[in-house]
Amino acid sequence: MARRKKIYEGKAKILYEGPEPGTIVQYFKDDATAFNAQKKDVIEGKGVLNNRLSEFFMTGLNNIGVPTHFLKRLNMREQLVRACEIVPLEIIVRNFAAGSLATRLGIEEGTPLPRPIVEYCYKDDKLGDPLVTEEHIAAFGWASQQDMDDILSLSLRVNDFLSGLMYGVGIKLVDFKIEIGRVYDGDFQRLIIADEISPDSMRLWDIETGQKLDKDVFRRDLGSLTDAYTEVAQRLGVMPKQATHLGKPKLIN
Ligand code: 5GP
Repeated sequence: MARRKKIYEGKAKILYEGPEPGTIVQYFKDDATAFNAQKKDVIEGKGVLNNRLSEFFMTGLNNIGVPTHFLKRLNMREQLVRACEIVPLEIIVRNFAAGSLATRLGIEEGTPLPRPIVEYCYKDDKLGDPLVTEEHIAAFGWASQQDMDDILSLSLRVNDFLSGLMYGVGIKLVDFKIEIGRVYDGDFQRLIIADEISPDSMRLWDIETGQKLDKDVFRRDLGSLTDAYTEVAQRLGVMPKQATHLGKPKLIN
């Protein structure tokens, strides 16, 4: 492929200028990081799996009327997405207590929450993405009240969609993180789901056994991350069920 202009390199992805104005090529790396990049490794095949899984979730969302940045998958590691202005927030939706919520409030991991809890973190790696309230968001102008209403309703729709999808294949959606982008159609602004949706940014537990099938496998040294992500992809029908050669992901299409 011709040389492209790199726009941004993050911990798990690289963004390149897309072929047409308003588009971006999103490249999924094999790099895995945790604890604000204090733990790092390269997990062969992770980028391929996340590219395909993110395509699967975003396509489903587009099809049920939840707008996302996803346009099309280009190859094993790249997808074409709509350029957007990222709202500087990480939106976390939780169905069961785990991770930082369990620690912060002293709730046992796995406790069902009385209703989905939506949290906001300010996107800043140097600060470790601190938890913020709607007061901070309004006061610092990161999003308007209308944006926050839209973000809440989009996040809950994503939660219902992903929870149902996972439940259908015997997986509990414990929590997840999404990012939101702004796109402009003339003077009109719309919010869309951006970044990626993959097991890197969710907690997924097998309903029967409680086995973790997400990035906690890497964070907590629980085994092979690609085996866990492959299991999710196979259950969702994204990858064939038969054994793959040398553990390398083999994709349908
Ligand atoms: P926690 O706040 O418990 O650490 O994370 C809650 C959920 O959001 C988990 O599913 C976790 O994977 C996801 N999450 C939180 N922060 C980040 C982040 O900076 N990057 C990614 N990929 N996921 C995150």
